[in-house]
Amino acid sequence: MILGAIEAGGTKFVCGLFEADGQEGSKPRIIGKLSIPTTDPKTTLEASRDFLLSAVEGKGLGKLDGIGIGCFGPVDLKTSSPTWGFITATPKEGWRNVEVAGYFRDELGVPVAFDTDVNAAAYGEYLWGAARGLKDFIYVTVGTGIGGGVFSNGALLHGQQHPELGHIGVKRVDSDAFPGCCPYHRDCLEGLASGPAIGQRWGARPETLGGGHKAWDLEARYLARAFATYSLTLSPERIIMGGGVGLRPGLAEKVASCLGEELGGYLPALNDPRSLSAFVSRPQLGSEAGLIGAAALALRIRSI
Ligand code: ZN
Repeated sequence: MILGAIEAGGTKFVCGLFEADGQEGSKPRIIGKLSIPTTDPKTTLEASRDFLLSAVEGKGLGKLDGIGIGCFGPVDLKTSSPTWGFITATPKEGWRNVEVAGYFRDELGVPVAFDTDVNAAAYGEYLWGAARGLKDFIYVTVGTGIGGGVFSNGALLHGQQHPELGHIGVKRVDSDAFPGCCPYHRDCLEGLASGPAIGQRWGARPETLGGGHKAWDLEARYLARAFATYSLTLSPERIIMGGGVGLRPGLAEKVASCLGEELGGYLPALNDPRSLSAFVSRPQLGSEAGLIGAAALALRIRSI
């Protein structure tokens, strides 16, 4: 079985071609990959389509059996909706109300599985990564934006739209005068703790700030306040933190420590440093989680 997968992000579309044996639980093998910058929708979508077509043809594989897409959001996931598979209220220039899933279904003539980028990553980690065996966990990405996929009671949570874990309010740190940079809410979690928020607050790109910079203590505090809210409302067994900022060495440990303080011993399972450091976990699939998760979503529709 030949599957296409796209991790459609606001910075780049990572496209992959996978071979799967169709056995349940068997991890698809990647046989081709291309990263395409996210520019305007027409250019980016066409380049992604062309890669998948040429990769299948170049390898003499016949045709694609299906495609899975994990997409930046917000997106419309209601299959009964006329705008299913569209990106909706994104602040990203030019991408508001853009049809993504239908484009690939029509252009490639194959079934399309469509979900958020973070739900795809969560699903990948559930099948083959840091969340194997867990029925309740959260995957959070901290980078250009902040988002989270929620796996609850053994399934991805969608609800009315899909959870938007990056846009919740968090209690401010008193000494922080940065107004926040979310165009919708200003000082929501994403507005205070995303990569652009760190960059604007300190006047330097996050990757240039050394490990001892106070930016990281503040970052860990905001993330811990959000993780405390997730822990108290969704009751996850683990929170996996990925993304360009989230994967920074040492940050997960700082967040775990702050989370303990924020919870104040209220959750018995999280009242010692060892439990906390296991609870705030790094993704085992690393930066591949979203792509392999998208392939897994495609595998799932193929088996229906
Ligand atoms: Zn916001």
